[in-house]
Amino acid sequence: MAQRLLDGDRRALARAITWVEDDRPEGWDLVREVYPHTGKAEVIGFTGPPGVGKSTLIGALTKARRQAGRTVGVLSVDPSSPFTQGALLGDRIRLTEHFLDQGVFIRSMANRGALGGLSEAALQAALLLDAAGRQDVFVETVGVGQAEIDIIDHADTIVLVLMPGSGDSIQALKAGVMEIPDVIVINKADHPLTDTMVREIRGVLSLANLDRSPEEVRARWRVPIIKTEATSGRGVDELVTSLREHRAHIEAAGQLQERRGRNLRNEVLAIATARMRRRLEEELRDDAEFQRLLDEVVERRLDPASAATELLERAERSGAPVE
Ligand code: GDP
Repeated sequence: MAQRLLDGDRRALARAITWVEDDRPEGWDLVREVYPHTGKAEVIGFTGPPGVGKSTLIGALTKARRQAGRTVGVLSVDPSSPFTQGALLGDRIRLTEHFLDQGVFIRSMANRGALGGLSEAALQAALLLDAAGRQDVFVETVGVGQAEIDIIDHADTIVLVLMPGSGDSIQALKAGVMEIPDVIVINKADHPLTDTMVREIRGVLSLANLDRSPEEVRARWRVPIIKTEATSGRGVDELVTSLREHRAHIEAAGQLQERRGRNLRNEVLAIATARMRRRLEEELRDDAEFQRLLDEVVERRLDPASAATELLERAERSGAPVE
């Protein structure tokens, strides 16, 4: 299976992604085997509210990258949807013209309700695409909530897609819900409010620069705001150029390594935390002592933090590997 995957076999790739999505041990084994061959793909994450045109834009970018002779993998992740891939594919991804192209691999993933699961599964799936030789990997999430950002965080370049009138996302940027992305796209730019929106975003970006020194501001990547019309392809060349420039910037400044290092650290911690929690929950499922502690909390005789302290002290005493 690993060899077929490394050879770029599409059916092996599809099956492998199902394994990681289903949290099957074969999936983890496979990722372990092919991991040394990963790290070559350029991973770009797209986020933004539903309906702004992310899928259409990814379709246009896919076309451009295919014309440049590169292979593409697209991962569309929807943390809010309980549905499985079949339902999503026809509906969400508007990449139908690429379905028959062997150089394009498209896959949707939805929430399986697994603990900390989707974000982990999405990252593993991106690694599989990378191992299978996809040169460009586009990861798309719906919405701008924390779950979406956790997924997109692992990309080398993060693109926020908005459209004129989607004020909520500007609020999210302002409030610091999401970190400043690397590239901002205003799609559906034929709308009369486009330039107002560009100005608003410039305002938010300059606010973010206020507490930085002038040197820092000069050395930093200047977030471009690109106006596109994904349906007609207008502005897509500019977006391609910006993505290339961002890549060159992070490579030159040594940031790519740093960024990947930070993301991998977060990933290791996320997996470890999820496993510890799972283990703790399993251990406590039929634990009378734990139930007694909870009752005391419910009856307001013990506060939640003290109960947690007691729980952890007990776990340490019993030598259970939970800290
Ligand atoms: P997503 O939910 O962000 O992936 O958005 P989609 O790519 O599914 O697009 C939502 C709708 O907007 C579709 O009907 C697209 O055809 C349409 N759309 C996408 N880009 C543009 C654009 O630049 N201009 C206009 N007028 N419509 C667009």
